[in-house]
Amino acid sequence: MRKIDLTNFQVATTGTARDINRRIVLNLIRKHQPVSRADLSRRSGLQRSTVSAITEQLIAQRWVTEGAIGHLPRGRKPTFLHLNGQRAGIIGVNIRPLNTTIALAGLDMEFLSHESMLTGTDPQRFVSELSRRLSEIIKAHPEMDFEGIGVAVPGRVDLASQKLVFAPNVGWAGLDLKTPLETATNLPVELENAANVCALAELWNGQHGEGIRHLVAVTVSEGIGVGMILNGQLLRGPTGLAGEFGHVTIREDGPICRCGNRGCWEVWASNTAAVRFYSNTASHCNLPPSAPRFEDLLRLAEQNDPKAVEALEKMAHYLGLGLATLVTGLAPDVVVLFGEFTQAWQRMEPLIRKVLKERQPTHASTKIVPTDPSTQPRLRGTIALVLQKHFGLPYI
Ligand SMILES: [Zn+2]
Repeated sequence: MRKIDLTNFQVATTGTARDINRRIVLNLIRKHQPVSRADLSRRSGLQRSTVSAITEQLIAQRWVTEGAIGHLPRGRKPTFLHLNGQRAGIIGVNIRPLNTTIALAGLDMEFLSHESMLTGTDPQRFVSELSRRLSEIIKAHPEMDFEGIGVAVPGRVDLASQKLVFAPNVGWAGLDLKTPLETATNLPVELENAANVCALAELWNGQHGEGIRHLVAVTVSEGIGVGMILNGQLLRGPTGLAGEFGHVTIREDGPICRCGNRGCWEVWASNTAAVRFYSNTASHCNLPPSAPRFEDLLRLAEQNDPKAVEALEKMAHYLGLGLATLVTGLAPDVVVLFGEFTQAWQRMEPLIRKVLKERQPTHASTKIVPTDPSTQPRLRGTIALVLQKHFGLPYI
């Protein structure tokens, strides 16, 4: 049960029930398409006439289209409904410290186009190049109604100012991405932390079953990000800073992190940490130029290079330690792991599970699963970020 906030509430009107039922029907169509009106009535428990009225509205608004005629042994032949893939163009932008990818998707979250650009270090140059590319995508598709732009950022977004805050791996704290991108494209821009975006992708598109309400996403790349869905809702905290488990100290005798703190989880368990173990250097922020890239480290481990194997094993140990903290503290249904390291899952999984077993006294039944990187969860989550405005429940 959620406590009613007496400083910020909206009373229910007759339109509220209609809006909620409309969203339920829209979600049922998304889940079961192609689906008949009779089936929608049976699945929702709504009367046939209510379902008809809602679907007429959805068709008029071009969210849904009527497709093939079904075959039943007798009686009227039902017309099947499905989401209108042409209705909405959604642009997703995934900003990582080195590379940024941009994709165009339809309502079905399938990508229609895909491109990438260098992120660079100058935020102003980056914003103007990104604006130019977004405008070109919009211009190239005059047949589409564009719904909005979802952007995954390697940092946290302040809920009040919508500016980037706490982004130690790009160093762009205070940057306003939303205003220039909205001005350039004339579309609403939704910014969200990359780990939160991954959690949304799993909630909307993951293979965890319908009943999943408590899901934690852990993204391991240059740093470590955590996104939490608790009670079916993304947890942002009052300002947007919730979830920074990557910057919780897990060993005080560790090196200084890019955030300024010492011994954070990410200096022990990120890709950068593994490269540091391999290079045998003390500093986390200044790795020697000779240090391999994490992808090279994975390849070396594959060839059974002992130093690379040792580095990955050490990374796995510390991943397990941090995961044990998350599972003990939050006991979610599932923790989904994202990142290049999942390519070495066979090697790392036993070590991660061993630490979890030793350091997880509550024996919570949380599942720990690596995600399939080929589904591009970060980019797909940026699409979910825009779509959830239409498919999620309204805040009452
Ligand atoms: Zn840190």
